[in-house]
Parts: sequence; C-alpha cells; structure tokens
Amino acid sequence: MPRFLRGLFFPGGCLAALAIGLRLHFGLEPDMLAWLERLAPALLVAGLLLAWRFHRSGPMYAATALLAVWAGLRFPPAGPEASLLAGALMLVLPLNLLLFAGVGRHPQLRSWGMFVLAAQALALAALLRGAPESLARVLQAAPLVLASLPVPQLVAGVWLLAGLALLARQLSGRGTGLWSLLAAGWGLVELNTTGNLGFGFSLAGCLLLVELVEMSYRLAYRDELTGLPGRRALAEALDRLPRRAALAMCDIDHFKKLNDRYGHANGDLCLQWIARQLERASGGGRAFRFGGEEFAMLFPGLSAAQAVPHLEAMCAGIRAEKLQLTPKRGGPAKPVGITLSIGVAELQSHGSDPRAVLKVADEALYQAKRQGRNKVCEARLPKKKQVKAAA
Ligand code: GH3
Ligand code: MG
Ligand code: MG
Repeated sequence: MPRFLRGLFFPGGCLAALAIGLRLHFGLEPDMLAWLERLAPALLVAGLLLAWRFHRSGPMYAATALLAVWAGLRFPPAGPEASLLAGALMLVLPLNLLLFAGVGRHPQLRSWGMFVLAAQALALAALLRGAPESLARVLQAAPLVLASLPVPQLVAGVWLLAGLALLARQLSGRGTGLWSLLAAGWGLVELNTTGNLGFGFSLAGCLLLVELVEMSYRLAYRDELTGLPGRRALAEALDRLPRRAALAMCDIDHFKKLNDRYGHANGDLCLQWIARQLERASGGGRAFRFGGEEFAMLFPGLSAAQAVPHLEAMCAGIRAEKLQLTPKRGGPAKPVGITLSIGVAELQSHGSDPRAVLKVADEALYQAKRQGRNKVCEARLPKKKQVKAAA
C-alpha cells in the first residue's frame, strides 16, 4: 500500500470505519449508550492529559475543544439560548480541529492555543447575552445543497470544508485529525437525530489516544528526517530475520562535498529523496536509516547473490535521476547526480548473528568504496566456506 494511503488509513481510519461499521450493523443497547455518554469525557480528559505529558500541543488543544463542545451540549443553558449555543459550538469545532491540526508547524500557536479557546468562549458568551439574534442570523445563513443533513446548513458546509482541508493535510503527511473530526461530526448528527452524543465523542477520544500512541511510536522507531525506520527498528528487525536473508549497507558517495557545495538543507532534501528510492526497492527489501548518510537494507529470504540485482537496479534508478539543486553560494540550480556504494552479506554464509553479518556487509561496503565507489560489492565467503563451495 502506498505510504500516503497507509498514513491516511492506518490506524485511525481503520478504527473509525470498524467502530462505525459495528455501530451501524449491530446498533447499540440503551445501557451501552448511557455507558458511552460517561466514557466520552473520560477518554477526552485522558487524551488531554497524555498530550500535555508528551508536550503535543495540537492534540491537547483538540481534546480541550472537544471537551468544551461536549460540556456545552450536555449541560446547555436553560431557555432559547440552548439551541443557539449548540449551533455555535458545532460551527467552531471543525475550525478549531483544523487550526490545531497545524500547531506542530506553527510554534507561535503552541502557547496561544488556550488563549484562542478562551477568547472564543468569551466571544460566544457575549454574543449569547448581547446579540443572540445576530448569532441566529449567522447560523441560518448560507443555504447550501446539504439540506438533508440534520444540522444547520452553514455548520454542514464548514464541516465539509474542514474535512476536505484535513484530508489534504493528511494525504500530504502534514497532520492528523481527520478521523477525530469525522467521529465528532457523527456524534453531532446522532445528537440531532437520536439525542446521543456518547458514541461519536467516545470514538473521537479513542482516535485522539490512538493518535498519541502512534505519535510516540513514530518518535521511538522512525527517523525524524527521512521517515524511514531508525536504529531501534533495525535492531528489532534483525532479531526477527528468517534463517536466510541478505543484509546490505548503503552509503551515499561524496556526500560531504554535496553538503559543502549545496548546503545542509539541500543535503537533507537529498537524504529524504534517497530514502524514498530505497523504500521502493524491489525484492522485498526493507530500508532503515543507519545514521548520517548510511542506510541498512534487509532482504528476508534472499541470498546475497539474489539481492544484488535488486540493489543494482535501485542504484541505476538513483543514478539516472538528477536532482536540481541551487549552490550555496548562489547562481542557477544545477542537475546533480547521486551515487551509492553498497556492501551485501548473507546470513548463514557469513555467520548466524545478524549484527556480525551487518558488520561483514559494512566491510564489503568499504571494499566498494576502495574500488572506486558507485557499485555493489558482495562480501567474500569466509575461507572455510570457500573451500566447501569449491569441493
Ligand atoms: P564517501 O564517498 O567516502 O562516503 O564520502 P562522504 O563525503 O559521503 O563521507 P564522509 O563520512 O566524509 O561524510 C559524510 C557526510 O554526511 C558528513 C556529514 O556532514 C553528512 N551528513 C551526515 N548526516 C547528515 C544529515 O542528517 N544531513 C546532512 N545534510 N548531512 C549529513
Ligand atoms: Mg559514511
Ligand atoms: Mg558517504
């Protein structure tokens, strides 16, 4: 499955689809619904506390916004303001979820999020007290084509636009929050049709928690710059290798020169581009960032000789493409070719300990460097095995 689709559907999308599918298929007993009504704020508070503990301001503000809406809808003021408040809360929630999904990229929002929410609460209270008719007029505005939905049309339109914006963000790997928005929207539709808020908001709380767990997993196992699995993931993958596997060490040639000529930022772009090429390698190869400009690749089930053509094809693809980079000292962008040197060794033939075999692959890599770079070198068999192979 392509990376962007995996990021979109796993795990949030799958969880949301499963929960909504079960809800539609089996329905929910009144007992269960009452239980979910109580679970929703507990999950949102748990999400808020966990996000605060992990210093993730986006999910923390999103949880606060969801909790505020839940409280406003569950404990509405007496009188005609109740429906106005509900409409206003429904209107601002998607905008807040969209705003806070981008907090990670806008550090100034990190410390201002709570003020933004407090200002909204004050403005809403002032509008409800001073000019409720103007709020009612706003909510009844914008006759769209979404008349069949059981929420004000303007609200439905704002949710749709926020959903599309979050979908675009999530597809480009720049944020999360789409599925929490969908779950909260589901809750609001159910509130207007059956009076239940618990299922949708419990699901939104669950999705927020799952997102936080996923975030901490990524921090621990993924390399920040390239998005490839990092050293910790490599250590675990080495322990899970089958008895037969090829292990490769890849190193970008003359990368220091590229950094010196085109700057560190361009160097980082190259590392990201190379990571995408390694991810696409054929033969079932799995790439890891080993450190600096070095990458490890594992080919479970292949011998070193079987892995070599896949590595050579990958190198040929990288060599054939030129990156347009602007020199550090200025001037027009130039096409820059990148080459890799690779060493490959094989589990069993070169030892049974995958870490030792990775070292053998590293020695073969240095052999490739000594032979002029831009090539794949298979590690030589140990003497005893050479004799056996000859016999
Ligand atoms: P060789 O062909 O022998 O491998 O030469 P090289 O220049 O690629 O190797 P060397 O070990 O001399 O230099 C590696 C360079 O990689 C030095 C360092 O600045 C650069 N580098 C390491 N990590 C990063 C990174 O995360 N980003 C950038 N832009 N550069 C990095
Ligand atoms: Mg190196
Ligand atoms: Mg290098």
